[in-house]
Amino acid sequence: GLCVSQDFDFFYFVQQWPGSYCDTKQSCCYPTTGKPAADFGIHGLWPNYRDGKYPQNCDSKNLFDPDKIADLRSSMQKKWPTLACPSGNGVGFWTHEWEKHGTCSESVLDQHGYFQAALVLQKQVNLLQALTSAGINPDGRSYSLSNIKSALQETVGFTPWIECNTDTSGNSQLYQIYLCVDTTGKNLIECPVFPKGKCGSQIEFPSF
Ligand code: 5GP
Ligand code: 5GP
Ligand code: 5GP
Repeated sequence: GLCVSQDFDFFYFVQQWPGSYCDTKQSCCYPTTGKPAADFGIHGLWPNYRDGKYPQNCDSKNLFDPDKIADLRSSMQKKWPTLACPSGNGVGFWTHEWEKHGTCSESVLDQHGYFQAALVLQKQVNLLQALTSAGINPDGRSYSLSNIKSALQETVGFTPWIECNTDTSGNSQLYQIYLCVDTTGKNLIECPVFPKGKCGSQIEFPSF
């Protein structure tokens, strides 16, 4: 309405399991800073619309500037590591995430605020601990999708979405976990709409 330009409706906060990025046909490369911890890493904080569509590349003038997040850099290397090949120091991944997604929420979060918001959210939800305390461990075994979802739901307090990919043998596995966040980037909410995509009813949780 008048004077209330709504750029987007909510964020997906997406974390990736490194074991599932790496054991695929595409494979992976460890960052130049070393093998990441065997834990979920941040993929991104993605502005989204309630109808499932999403904006992207919203401001080609607001380029990523590593100097703006110099104080966050060591946390980012630990918590938002890049696994793409060839090996990188993270700047390429963070540039992509800021320019494709972050620029679409620049009216609420500047570059520093955007990356900091993701780091704070990750601290609030310890996904690996939620799973392991329910007996769901990254041991290459298969677990039921509904048990995985219940364990996360009970600890986090909101319904997660699980994205699966397939390993080199074609097994469906736990790849990414989506949670929804309000437009401030600070509060988890129930997802207004879930992503699409199929998992098996039993999915593998590979080691890393
Ligand atoms: P994929 O095709 O691998 O699911 O997604 C490729 C890229 O598209 C993602 O890394 C992300 O940048 C973007 N993307 C996919 N699905 C969504 C979505 O539901 N919301 C937003 N904001 N971006 C998405
Ligand atoms: P999206 O478009 O899905 O937000 O981001 C995916 C892009 O980031 C791809 O171009 C991919 O090559 C790059 N990228 C760099 N490091 C990673 C990583 O660790 N995981 C994922 N999913 N993409 C990465
Ligand atoms: P329901 O929401 O009724 O349990 O499931 C409806 C369909 O969506 C089922 O095919 C179920 O396997 C699938 N589904 C439910 N939750 C998820 C999820 O988090 N990720 C994926 N990929 N599929 C899901």
